[in-house]
Amino acid sequence: MTRSEAGDAAARLAAVRARIAGAAAAAGRETASVQLVAVSKLQPEARIAGALEAGQRLFGENRVQEAEGRWPAFRERYPDIALRLVGRLQTNKVRAAVQLFDTIETLDRPRLAAALVREFERTGRLLPCFVQVNTGEEPQKGGVTPAALGSFLDKCRTEYGLDVAGLMCIPPAGDLPGPHFAFLREAARRHGLAGLSMGMSVDFETAIRFGATHVRIGTAVFGARG
Ligand SMILES: *Cc1c(COP(=O)(O)O)cnc(C)c1O
Repeated sequence: MTRSEAGDAAARLAAVRARIAGAAAAAGRETASVQLVAVSKLQPEARIAGALEAGQRLFGENRVQEAEGRWPAFRERYPDIALRLVGRLQTNKVRAAVQLFDTIETLDRPRLAAALVREFERTGRLLPCFVQVNTGEEPQKGGVTPAALGSFLDKCRTEYGLDVAGLMCIPPAGDLPGPHFAFLREAARRHGLAGLSMGMSVDFETAIRFGATHVRIGTAVFGARG
């Protein structure tokens, strides 16, 4: 890694952390109540190494295979790395995902819940899961529809005994994000869930105002994806 890549990573991270602290303060929240998930998909390893050197330990990836290719090596150097899967999970990748990730943010269907539970039981490795909600009801996006959320959460708890830790959403690109974040916050409150994963590079300050506990930030932390 070149000096400038490490320096860039440190400077960008510091700037994002300062913005998170500012947004939290403006919302009357503790900075520590918002976790920065650095989304490293499609980023060069040098930038990830720079972020690690600058102290970042919590990362998000959206593809199991890409994550498998690089995180085991980083983990040997930094054992306290925590990884969150923020992309769609196919059931044939569940075994690899459970081995690699610490949290699954994209639980969104009964078949996946069943496959995860089977793998948790087989390995004894019980990961917290967030349920992804397709708040914009976009056909190309993963997530349960708002109308199906209640019954899906019931099923996760009673039928599968899954530890649902929170909700996650990705608002449609053209929409104002606020109403989506407000919906997710209200749904989490109604169902007694503490975790709220929402907000990306363009809208994380809004998400913090609406109660985000996890902001998933890629380009603002690492620069444009290659
Ligand atoms: C890529 C991605 C992000 C980060 O997006 P940026 O706009 O780069 O901050 C957040 N969440 C998910 C689910 C993603 O796939």
